Amino acid sequence: MPGLSRVAMDSTEAMSIKYNTMVYELKQRGKHVLVMSLGEAYFDIPLFPMDELPQAEVHHYSHSRGLLALRRKLAQYFHAEYAVDFDPDEEVIITAGSKAAIHMTFMSILNPGDEVIYSEPAWVSYPEQIRLCYATPVGVRYQKSVYEFEEFITPKTKAIVINNPHNPSGQVLSRKELEHILDLARKHNLWVLSDEAYSDFVWGEEFISLARLDPNKEHAIVFNSMSKNYGISGWRVGYVIANKAVISNVLKVNQHLITCPATILQHYLARHFHQLLEITKPQIQAVLCKRKQVAAYMDQIGLSYLPGSSTFYLFASIAPSRLSSEEFCTRLLQDEYVSIVPGVGYGESCDAFVRISVGAASLEENQLGLRKIKELIEKTS
Ligand code: PLP
Repeated sequence: MPGLSRVAMDSTEAMSIKYNTMVYELKQRGKHVLVMSLGEAYFDIPLFPMDELPQAEVHHYSHSRGLLALRRKLAQYFHAEYAVDFDPDEEVIITAGSKAAIHMTFMSILNPGDEVIYSEPAWVSYPEQIRLCYATPVGVRYQKSVYEFEEFITPKTKAIVINNPHNPSGQVLSRKELEHILDLARKHNLWVLSDEAYSDFVWGEEFISLARLDPNKEHAIVFNSMSKNYGISGWRVGYVIANKAVISNVLKVNQHLITCPATILQHYLARHFHQLLEITKPQIQAVLCKRKQVAAYMDQIGLSYLPGSSTFYLFASIAPSRLSSEEFCTRLLQDEYVSIVPGVGYGESCDAFVRISVGAASLEENQLGLRKIKELIEKTS
């Protein structure tokens, strides 16, 4: 057999998807699984009629920056909601999910050998996407704060990635922390990629989009997505906001890889943008409230987790279990039919953690799953 790409062979499976695939397979075999591993919250959302959309257009490619009507809606939303202004003509691209937007942006800013800094726990795809660009991921161990980032900067550093609000801890970065990161970027001439996919899942804190603090987008590149905030992960609609030069490069990559996201869905989202928000916003609040109750229950039964109150995730410690996080999650799934995600997928420094998602199961089901986690920790300590 002819050889295969080394970077692709060396890349690891996305840990969250790996465990969710195991869940699908168990369900196919008729098992009931308590799912606390999904990267989404389940909303009750209607499906508006598709035949109201412009029939002459929906079957064809859209503009490869994304449908202008949707770009305009997003620009209005960012202005009203996050005090961020961007030009819908030249400073945004809508594409097939923010995962693709992030990868295409890495492809647009990185050269082989460049280094990219991010803190652990880190979303599973950052290191792999960076490696796929022949660049080097530099994961900062989990207890270090953004104020310690500077010691990881070398002449090869090209960018810092932040995830705000943070999957999996639920932490929201403060204005002071964001200002500090931007100061580093100015001092060392770096890009700052701010992944804001959970921007509306914020509880009792102020969320500041990075682009608000860098209005000319000299260093800030912002990603967002309809997957989490709108509860439509399967539609694959995400976007990147950056200055004109960055977007021009992403546009070329997008034209060669994706062309445009599904036109029919873009028309649908442009048409029902505000209606959908009215439907999903209260449901986001309900999910955040459930997260708070889950956290209180964890306090009550003695399960500790990293600080944070936003998103629908908690990053829980499994110490003093002697199992690795993968062994722990596999055993919990096989013996108890409870699915969670191993912490090691979020960085090597996170093997004593597991990610819990409260988005799909009820409070009572989450509480049952947490008791199972606690029991397994006790049994394996
Ligand atoms: N960024 C973070 C932090 C995520 O958790 C996810 C999905 O799990 C994504 C980006 C990608 O989301 P999508 O490609 O569905 O927009």
